[in-house]
Amino acid sequence: MPEFFYHIKGKDENSGFGNWGWPPIFAGKVEATDRAAAKALLEEEYGRTFPTRVMAKDLASNEFLLSIKEIKANDHYTRRLFEVQTCGYCNCEFTVIEKYTINEPGGGFEFCSSECARMKRAESDFTFGNETWRDSPPVIYRITNKTTGQCYIGKTRQAFTLRWYQHFFQAKDTKFHKAIKKHPITEWTFEVIEIVSVTELPIAAVDAYLTEREAYHIAMHQSAVTGYNTQGPAEINGDLFNQEDPHAEERTPAADHADQPPPGGQVQPQPLALGEEGTPE
Ligand SMILES: [Zn+2]
Repeated sequence: MPEFFYHIKGKDENSGFGNWGWPPIFAGKVEATDRAAAKALLEEEYGRTFPTRVMAKDLASNEFLLSIKEIKANDHYTRRLFEVQTCGYCNCEFTVIEKYTINEPGGGFEFCSSECARMKRAESDFTFGNETWRDSPPVIYRITNKTTGQCYIGKTRQAFTLRWYQHFFQAKDTKFHKAIKKHPITEWTFEVIEIVSVTELPIAAVDAYLTEREAYHIAMHQSAVTGYNTQGPAEINGDLFNQEDPHAEERTPAADHADQPPPGGQVQPQPLALGEEGTPE
């Protein structure tokens, strides 16, 4: 016998889904020979009749709206609403249909609730734009060839060890990656040279600030001139950086620096223009 998926929505003109609220007040499935028989079964079960469409002029006199459709064999989405899922955060078992009936619209198929979805996001180190920056802030790193002293400067919001891995095992066709292929991994060092404090910044300003910090270090370490960075500070950060950075004008051709090790050690963050909405520490 065919199965029919139904939901009964209550009136809610502020729902954002037209005139009817979401999630539905009741939802489930019934077996019936056809759609009309399914509707009759439901009306018997709930002890009242339901409209399946309500014209705008009749809104005032109707509190509920019934939607009903046959669950076709290939309708995996609807079938999945009834299947038991395991919450990706708290491990409890739930069905999406149960969530409708307790008025919990969040978390989709992955989480039992909006709260579990939020907690999981907060745990992740790899999600942009959430609280975890406070635990795992973005960094500027330097990868140095121990033999030649040449280096590459990069920035990442990921765990920096992941970025290290990506450089070495997801090689692209840049001068840095060509050098990586030529030298054994034991010839390289990886350092975090600045932990970039972004907690005071509005999210929209974070990317620009990271780029400024990266450009600053590329200029400091001459890594686009004598090292492996493809783009110099002005190329990645524009004229703004050149105005701000006292070292930009000191850049000289590679030959002049070939016998000098790159400058090392900690570099203090410099105040760089961010406009009025964000002020670095
Ligand atoms: Zn959960």
